[in-house]
Amino acid sequence: MASDLELSAMRQAITLSALGLGTTSPNPPVGCVILDRHGTVVGAGFHRRKGEPHAEAHALNAAGGAARGGTAVVTLEPCNHVGVTPACRQELINAGVSRVVIAVMDPTSRGEGGASMLAAAGVEVETDVLHNEALTVLEPWLTATVRRRPYLTWAFAAEGEHQSAAEERLLLDLRANADLVITDKILAEGISGGHASAHFALPGDTDIGTGLSQWLSAAYEGGVRSVLVVGYEYGAALRPCLHAVDELVVAMPRTGPSQALEVVHSDLMPFDFRLVEVAAHEYGLRFCMRCFRA
Ligand SMILES: [Zn+2]
Repeated sequence: MASDLELSAMRQAITLSALGLGTTSPNPPVGCVILDRHGTVVGAGFHRRKGEPHAEAHALNAAGGAARGGTAVVTLEPCNHVGVTPACRQELINAGVSRVVIAVMDPTSRGEGGASMLAAAGVEVETDVLHNEALTVLEPWLTATVRRRPYLTWAFAAEGEHQSAAEERLLLDLRANADLVITDKILAEGISGGHASAHFALPGDTDIGTGLSQWLSAAYEGGVRSVLVVGYEYGAALRPCLHAVDELVVAMPRTGPSQALEVVHSDLMPFDFRLVEVAAHEYGLRFCMRCFRA
C-alpha cells in the first residue's frame, strides 16, 4: 500500500509531468519525485525532450545522497533500455533507492521493463498507484503508442458570430499540449521549436481529409504522438472519420435558458465519447469528451 506521503508525491509527479507535454515526443511525458528514508521530498524532475535526461535522472540529481534508502515515485515504469541516455532502473539502483512507486506500466516493456529488473535487484516495487490520475497526462501518449498513430484531438467552436474568436482562444489554450497543430490547413509544432529536432519531423502535408490513417501513420513515424486540429470548417473533414478522433473539445455560445436546444446538439456528442470536462467561459461554455472505444 502506498502511504499518504507517497500519494501526495505521485500527484506532484503527475502535475510536473505535464510540463513535458508538447516537447517530449516520441518519448512520454513523465514526472518523478524522490522521498528520503523519512518520507520528505528531496528531489523532483520531469522529462523535457528526447535526448535529455529522463525524469528519474533529474529527480535523483536534485536529491543527491538523500535518495539512498528512499523512495522514487514515478508516473511511468522506469525504462530498462540504454538508448540516448542510461537506463533509469540502473540509475535508481545505483542511487540506492529502496522502493519505487509507479502509476502506469510501460506498454512497450512486455513484463521485461524496469519494474521487473528493479525487483530482481531487491528494490521494493509497487505499481498501479493513482493509475487513473496519471492518465490525465499520459493517456494521449499511451493511446498513440498502443495504436501506433498519434492521439487526435479536434477542437472547434459552434457556428455563430463569435465562432472565430472562440476558435482562436481554443488554439491558444490547447496548443501547448500537442506535438502538432493544424488550423486552416497550416501545420505547426504546438510549441514552436519545442521538440528535439533529431527525433522529430513535421509531416509534409496537411491533407488529413483523404487517407487519414496513412497520414497519421506517417506522422507517428516522424515522432508525432499528439495532433490538435482546430476549426469547425477545416475539421469537418474529420466528421466522417470520428472513429479516428480521440478527443473532442467544443466551445458553445451562451444561450437563454429555454433556447438551449440550439446550442447542444446530440451529433456533437457521439455515443462512444465520455465527458471529461465541462466549464463556463466568458464566451459561453466548453466541454471536452474522450473516446472510450476499446
Ligand atoms: Zn528512463
